[in-house]
Amino acid sequence: MDLGLSGKHAIVTGGSRGVGKEIALSLAAEGVHVTLTYQGQREKAEEVVGEIQATGRNAHAVKMDLADSTSMQALFQQANAQVGAADILINNAGVWPKGYIKDLTLSDWTDTINKNLTSVFLLSQLFVQQCLDHQKGGKILNITSQAAFHGATTGHAHYAASKAGILGFARSLAREHASDGITVNNLALGIVETDMIRSSLQEKEDYYLSRIPLGRVAQPKEMAEIATFLVSEKANYLTGSTFDATGGMLMR
Ligand code: NDP
Repeated sequence: MDLGLSGKHAIVTGGSRGVGKEIALSLAAEGVHVTLTYQGQREKAEEVVGEIQATGRNAHAVKMDLADSTSMQALFQQANAQVGAADILINNAGVWPKGYIKDLTLSDWTDTINKNLTSVFLLSQLFVQQCLDHQKGGKILNITSQAAFHGATTGHAHYAASKAGILGFARSLAREHASDGITVNNLALGIVETDMIRSSLQEKEDYYLSRIPLGRVAQPKEMAEIATFLVSEKANYLTGSTFDATGGMLMR
């Protein structure tokens, strides 16, 4: 199936590792020029760029901090100057801090909401503005979590709230800009084997597996393939939707 992605430009936040890295690789394999972001691990990001360039495709890495709006503006300016206006934004980067509600400080709460939710608002706003300036449509895909629906079970209430907030924001954004040709969807993940969850998974593997009807955690690559389809031309009729890729952990 031709996904119609060749020649597009995608910004993938958190493309240096985990799910974002595989999304970057998957999009690049479809002929997309990928601007991937990292926060601290520049070498990892450059490795992904190198891996993509070795296949004859194009990519570059830009530093961006989810807690710093100036770095987001710089990301869009740089990506636009180097490649042109982006066609796709994948809001993938995020943090998963631990803390039970009785112990959470206001700063723990605000930090997580800022990094996981406010950043999605700011980056989406920059993307939409760029689409409007260039009189072109675009696709936004947000990576959220089953925790947005279930709530957290292991001390991540602030994370669950941030991921649930994405859903309400995305639906509003989808409504406000459908007539501009901009679509907005969400992909809710369950448990994916990445750095984010690896140590928790090792500690409580039986607990996590018991919650997944398919009986295994997901690999980042299989999540990336779904994400790639969701930003492809084959998904033009989707907007305001949330897709659950959780091995059955979330059924609604
Ligand atoms: P990883 O921890 O493996 O990778 C995180 C990525 O985000 C890295 O590229 C990292 O950059 C970047 N990043 C982290 N903090 C910041 C920050 N403050 N500013 C900018 N970039 C930052 O995460 P995953 O791949 O596991 O997660 C990807 C998405 O999937 C997240 O939104 C997560 O919430 C969601 N998700 C993951 C699940 C899982 O089981 N793994 C389950 C449900 C949802 P750098 O390399 O420079 O540190």
